[in-house]
Amino acid sequence: MASQKLLLKHADVKGIETYDVYRKHEGYNSVEKAFKKMSPEEVLEEVKTSGLRGRGGAGFPTGLKWSFLAKPEGVSRYLVCNADESEPGTFKDRYLMEFLPHLLIEGLIVSSYALGANTCYIYIRGEYAWIVDILEKAIEEAKANGFLGKNILDSGFDLEIYVQRGAGAYICGEETALLESLEGNRGNPRIKPPFPAVKGVWDCPTVVNNVETLAAVVPIINHGGAEYAKIGVGRSTGTKLISACGNINKPGVYEIEMTESVEDFIFSDEFCGGIPKGKRLKACIPGGSSVPILPANLLLNTAAGETRIMNYESLNEGGFETGTMMGSGGFIVFDEDQCIVKHTMTLARFYNHESCGQCSPCREGTGWLYKVLKKIEAGHGEIKDIDLLWDIQRKIDGNTICPLGEAAAWPVAAAIRHFRDEFEWHVTHAEEAKTRNFGIAQYADALV
Ligand code: SF4
Repeated sequence: MASQKLLLKHADVKGIETYDVYRKHEGYNSVEKAFKKMSPEEVLEEVKTSGLRGRGGAGFPTGLKWSFLAKPEGVSRYLVCNADESEPGTFKDRYLMEFLPHLLIEGLIVSSYALGANTCYIYIRGEYAWIVDILEKAIEEAKANGFLGKNILDSGFDLEIYVQRGAGAYICGEETALLESLEGNRGNPRIKPPFPAVKGVWDCPTVVNNVETLAAVVPIINHGGAEYAKIGVGRSTGTKLISACGNINKPGVYEIEMTESVEDFIFSDEFCGGIPKGKRLKACIPGGSSVPILPANLLLNTAAGETRIMNYESLNEGGFETGTMMGSGGFIVFDEDQCIVKHTMTLARFYNHESCGQCSPCREGTGWLYKVLKKIEAGHGEIKDIDLLWDIQRKIDGNTICPLGEAAAWPVAAAIRHFRDEFEWHVTHAEEAKTRNFGIAQYADALV
């Protein structure tokens, strides 16, 4: 059954990035409804009822996060939209901002109203330079039509939205590093607590949410939180944007109901359209590069034999022993020709490069992960190096200031857990590994 569209419903309409066309397609209806018929508290309640969970990766309930916002008398509150989207394999926020900028602006207005924030920042990664112009144009249009600025829709509520470009650092996607960068400082994550809800940007109470999360507030207000919650299953309510890439016939951004099976998502023509040249599925990272990779058999079915579904709970079924995470929805598919050792080394190099260097388990550990993986990949590894890798990742995991440490450790742990044979083969067949990959012969029976 085709997934219904809430965010991308009008994505194919010509000119939808302009105010006039957007307005004709239900645009800004949620602002009118919220400002004219609802109190800020009622908007917050609808978001809570919807069960919306943060779409940036952590999956924390959005309404609950909003309810933590401190409200001391006479102190400004802020909403910050995290548009840093630097996780390899994740590009769904880029799509939303580029093609539906007014949807995001609309979500920001309603969310700011609920939070009592009169200033909102969109912190966007430096590499998305061309989208800055698109967003600023949309902000200008919204303002010219009375949806931003002073006394919006005669409600007495004022709001300004500013777009701030980052300088291209992965770590600035971490919310406290983002706030440091926003203030003009080096993007080093802060030690928590205090959390941004109490002490965020300019030391004021701040909510930081991802682009897709804030855009989802629009259909929640339009249709009601209870209707939104009927879509999906369990605690995976609403729809989710998935950016699909790797060895698939139809890479792109898809909006799914979180009831689709992983198998259908990869092989049906509605979504990824299968694997090119009839090759077999070897593995997949379903939620952006930091979540654990799963081999084909565990990807399509849980260890208990149940069909694996594209949602928070099902993807995590079995924990990290046999499951993974929904993460940001960056879905990377590997066919039988891909080398897991090389892939793991590439990721280790990325996380080592992006470590801010503030804490030693991450600063030193990511460097060692990369060095040892490079040694194995180059054909100079020893069996004990695989155990060394396991030991290093364990010493990083849970011992760092921010989640980049885990983001670096988890891919290595999962690769060794599920593909240890392949690592060992790289050590014992060093010369052969230079000309062909392990997957072709050794995985013949396990591939899907
Ligand atoms: Fe910096 Fe890494 Fe420590 Fe995060 S875990 S604060 S990125 S050194």
